[in-house]
Amino acid sequence: MLRADERTDPRSHCMSDKVPYLDLPAQLRRIRPEIDAALARTLDNCTFCLGPDVAQFEKDFARFCGAEHCVGFNSGTSALHVAMILAGVGPGDEVITTPHTFVATSWAICYVGARPVYVDIEEATCNLNPALVERAITPRTKAILPVHLYGHPFDVEPIRDICRRHNLKLIEDACQAHGARYKGRVVGTFGEMACFSFYPGKNLGAAGEGGALVTNDAALAARARALREHGSTRRYYHDEIGFNYRMEGFQGAVLGVKLKYLDEWTRARRRVAHRYHELLADTPLQLPREAPWAESAYHLYVVRHPRRDELKAHLEANGIGCALHYPLALHMQKCFAHLGYRPGDFPVAEKAARECLSLPIYPELTEAQQQRVVDVIRDFFRR
Ligand SMILES: *Cc1c(COP(=O)(O)O)cnc(C)c1O
Repeated sequence: MLRADERTDPRSHCMSDKVPYLDLPAQLRRIRPEIDAALARTLDNCTFCLGPDVAQFEKDFARFCGAEHCVGFNSGTSALHVAMILAGVGPGDEVITTPHTFVATSWAICYVGARPVYVDIEEATCNLNPALVERAITPRTKAILPVHLYGHPFDVEPIRDICRRHNLKLIEDACQAHGARYKGRVVGTFGEMACFSFYPGKNLGAAGEGGALVTNDAALAARARALREHGSTRRYYHDEIGFNYRMEGFQGAVLGVKLKYLDEWTRARRRVAHRYHELLADTPLQLPREAPWAESAYHLYVVRHPRRDELKAHLEANGIGCALHYPLALHMQKCFAHLGYRPGDFPVAEKAARECLSLPIYPELTEAQQQRVVDVIRDFFRR
């Protein structure tokens, strides 16, 4: 179930001047017969936990990422948690990560008793700034967990070099970046492990919760499989303390259908993004830009402006859905007060939190809808 603020207003379909922030029904309409058949098969077979559809999806998604192994999970958060365990991160350890992301990136670090150590982001991409990483390393640093935020890859090579120099593990949070490319290569195999989310609103979304851990290391994949299933490889024999983090059969079935469309959907997202680039070029908005080495999967299209709150209110008053990713940097969250950070510690992240505004972007967004979004934005700057 989507959170209330993410659900599409059913009335939006009969109000032609309204543009929903996200339109999952439009995606479903196109593939409904295939989804129905896949769900019915799972129901007939009663393969509800893991099962053949999950196994097939794991094979297909590993191939999609150019990776040897994919292990399906019940969420991206679970996959990140297990990745931290597999990276050997434990109590008292530090993991370098970004303060400008969905909170689950930091949860994974906290779940194993380690401490998130934040490093400020780059202005252009809102991703971890490689130039600032090295000075945050201490003898307790075990790993770096950057995010391919908004679908735009982080700057892999300098961060990977730092990991090699300091003997740190690199784990990619690829939860927003299915199919994004860094120097022509799909994300997911740049570190020891990468984690993906199939939350319904993600570029590849389940009909519920889902996630995956991707790796080229057979031993890590085998241990990930055991950890997601109560720490066992043989039923009722438990080699280590594990979890119930299995992917559901229904989700494997749905994801298997949708994966076939993912490349097409990513191309459509990129077309929408490029149209926004053109249509908004002469407005006062700061637009997202791809680094020369990047092909973003455009999970989100995030513009920036100092009068963000007014603009958001204006869009909403005119029936345009929009959202904030993310309005409060992680080092300023109440749950992380014990980490002892202060306002001003990460000025670029704090400014991004104040100025970011996510516009509607999805493969089914029509040119007319997009024009409507742009018209309302232009109207705001004219007043
Ligand atoms: C969605 C997301 C997660 C968590 O994934 P879930 O499947 O919702 O648990 C983690 N990190 C980032 C960057 C995300 O966008």
